[in-house]
Amino acid sequence: MSKDNKPDTKNRDEIPAEDDLQKYLDLALELGADQTKVIEVADILLEDAVVFKCQVPRCHSYGKSAHCPPHAPLPADIRELLKQYEKAILFARRVPTEVLLKDRTDSQRRAAFQSIYEIVSKLESTAFYDGFHLATGFAAGSCKSYFCWDQETCAVLQGGDCLYPVKARPSMESVGMNVFTMMADAGWDISPIGSDTKAEEVPTATLVGIVIIK
Ligand code: SF4
Repeated sequence: MSKDNKPDTKNRDEIPAEDDLQKYLDLALELGADQTKVIEVADILLEDAVVFKCQVPRCHSYGKSAHCPPHAPLPADIRELLKQYEKAILFARRVPTEVLLKDRTDSQRRAAFQSIYEIVSKLESTAFYDGFHLATGFAAGSCKSYFCWDQETCAVLQGGDCLYPVKARPSMESVGMNVFTMMADAGWDISPIGSDTKAEEVPTATLVGIVIIK
């Protein structure tokens, strides 16, 4: 903020400086992330195969949200978008695996995923008010499952307004980001969690989000 309490106006092409990025890393930790890292946007791995995995085997949320495939932006579109950015904040939050193994409608499970959307939207809006007007975030899972779980359909797909416009975002995977490889590249552990996972064998699950900033 400037002294007269107005948001700083930065050059629209300015990339965040190290102290800006450190501020966002610290904020993500304050908001509940367990690991944070600045990564180069060029290192974000986009693959059509990731989106195909939403379709086969079919995810419960496939086609049910404006932010899920086939309605989400395509990897090719995101690849073009990312050319305009240089820096991103990647973060991971660890949650007990037993929470992710609960039913999709379970409140603890919803809260775990919602926390990733909260961190993404807070980082994005903080960067926005710092002058990085084009900060954009991607969360985890489907907003239909974690915000509109009690709605029959997505309001946007019915031609209406999003019911959670400030918080709902596409997930990293819905636009083709290969989260598993990106985690490995960051030097962080992540285990696949599915219905056959045994919580006693894999006690910790990982949820991941990212915000690209300029
Ligand atoms: S209305 Fe609900 S399901 Fe549709 S995009 Fe918004 S949060 Fe997601």
